[in-house]
Amino acid sequence: MRRWNGWGDDTIDFPLPGGAQLFLEQRLGKPTPLPDASFEDVMAMVPPSRLPDHPLIVKTPSDRILHARGQSLPDWLALRSGKLGSFPDGVAYPASPDEVRALVAFMKDLDGVLIPYGGGTSVVGHINPPGTDRPILTVDLRRMNRLLNLDLESHIATFGAGASGPDVESQLRAHGYTLGHYPQSFEFSTLGGWIATRSSGQQSLGYGKIERLFAGGTMETPSGPLEIQDFPASAAGPDLREIVMGSEGRLGILTNVKMRVSPLPPRESFRVFFCPHWDSGCEALRKIVQSGIPLSMLRLSNATETETQLALAGHEKAVRLLERWLAFRGAGVQKCMVTVGITGTRRLHRTALKEASRIFREEKAVHAGRYLGRTWKEHRFRAPYLRNSLWERGYCVDTLETAVNWDRVSLLMAAVESALTAALVGEREKVLVFSHLSHVYSQGSSIYTTYLFRAADTYETTLSRWRRLKKAASESIVQHGGTITHHHGVGTDHAPYLVSEKGPLGINAIKALCQTFDPDGLMNPGKLVS
Ligand SMILES: Cc1cc2nc3c(=O)[nH]c(=O)nc-3n(C[C@H](O)[C@H](O)[C@H](O)COP(=O)(O)OP(=O)(O)OC[C@H]3O[C@@H](n4cnc5c(N)ncnc54)[C@H](O)[C@@H]3O)c2cc1C
Repeated sequence: MRRWNGWGDDTIDFPLPGGAQLFLEQRLGKPTPLPDASFEDVMAMVPPSRLPDHPLIVKTPSDRILHARGQSLPDWLALRSGKLGSFPDGVAYPASPDEVRALVAFMKDLDGVLIPYGGGTSVVGHINPPGTDRPILTVDLRRMNRLLNLDLESHIATFGAGASGPDVESQLRAHGYTLGHYPQSFEFSTLGGWIATRSSGQQSLGYGKIERLFAGGTMETPSGPLEIQDFPASAAGPDLREIVMGSEGRLGILTNVKMRVSPLPPRESFRVFFCPHWDSGCEALRKIVQSGIPLSMLRLSNATETETQLALAGHEKAVRLLERWLAFRGAGVQKCMVTVGITGTRRLHRTALKEASRIFREEKAVHAGRYLGRTWKEHRFRAPYLRNSLWERGYCVDTLETAVNWDRVSLLMAAVESALTAALVGEREKVLVFSHLSHVYSQGSSIYTTYLFRAADTYETTLSRWRRLKKAASESIVQHGGTITHHHGVGTDHAPYLVSEKGPLGINAIKALCQTFDPDGLMNPGKLVS
């Protein structure tokens, strides 16, 4: 069963390896865990529902708790403390576009609020019910998870928008196809959520961000259904897909979606290289992507992330040996790990590896072989489970991401890291900060930063620590010309910073779209733009 106040399936654990506790204590100090509320405690706090009965709506306290929060750190703090504040008044699990349409009409008559819900893996407050006098209905699309059609000639698959990563891949693989979209939340996040937040998968370099994969579909809006046709390309004015992508539930509910799929690749491998330092790693990634070498993934960890990952991997003896060997080959304390994915025909595989290796050699990188790459693949969705173990010890972990042109990548990464490192100095608290580049483009790259800090002695103080950290990092991103988000989306947490990149006119244009599709303000109010 899925954990109600943490990450993932409750039969899966990722305990902290032996040396990791010491590693963290040395960097952050000894932690003290906060006490968790029980599910029963929270059940007792759920207020009576304000929704009238409806055959498609469930109003049990447990369904309402399970849809009350996403996966951001403030969401975790709310769930773990039991202080959730607001709950949806009911949850619907429609099985067809007609049922979605009926729910939209029902809530329109009631002057209520509708929150589209995919997998609830948002990390920026997308699906949290607002404090309002209006009744709130969360629409969970999980039953609309089927492959409805697979056009083998055009490579277009039509799915119910509630299909999760495993739903999508298992149904496509049965026909020899793949979507190739693997966000780290793959186990639970859904097609509708990926499109509505402009998600990016781990192999976006090969398969593309969701923008490249989403071909068209249907969105039920309070103003009626919006049909987007799946042309291979079109010059017929502005692209309506661009309106739907990133709409964050503000315009309507995606029901059926058409996705561009590919035949399963004959060969796929992941390998690890170590660059002697950050600059050589950046240079290698930039050269590789700008020369168009067809890799499916490139991920460069900075020196602190490399050190932390090796410390958290366990296998202390093997890691010591590896580090000695790498130092002997010129990749010492400043070494930066690069994980490379190659996906395609055998011939493409050979050529891509040869060309990429040539550039890595120019940058004095050491090829560490396929074992670490295989291990990365096996554990590609496991790292988030570490959040549970860290929490149990008393450590909080959060991530944030941005993107910027190559000329500012290193500058922005350093600025965000120092803003985070300095944010809790007034409290004499340390923050462990590290970053990687994982979605690279000819023009620039995303920057993904992870930060860990100790929980304070109360939930309120821990939340105010997080607020200081998030504000410092977000202001630094804006100040240094990065986008406020490369793939997590805006939700509530990034909304205050949106105007600095869209401008007042841009924000008004987004609000005008909301007004067109949802004149009465039913759809997910308070998210994206207020
Ligand atoms: C551990 C972890 C790892 C993550 N890794 C990644 C990653 O690698 N890449 C990445 O891009 N993101 C990642 N995320 C963030 C998150 O998974 C994505 O934002 C994802 O796209 C959300 O999908 P979901 O189905 O869970 O949507 P939800 O969280 O349920 O909803 C997100 C938003 O989409 C809207 N929405 C959902 N379904 C529909 C629909 N059918 N129609 C209209 N609107 C809809 C909701 O109203 C909401 O505004 C991660 C999150 C976690 C917790």
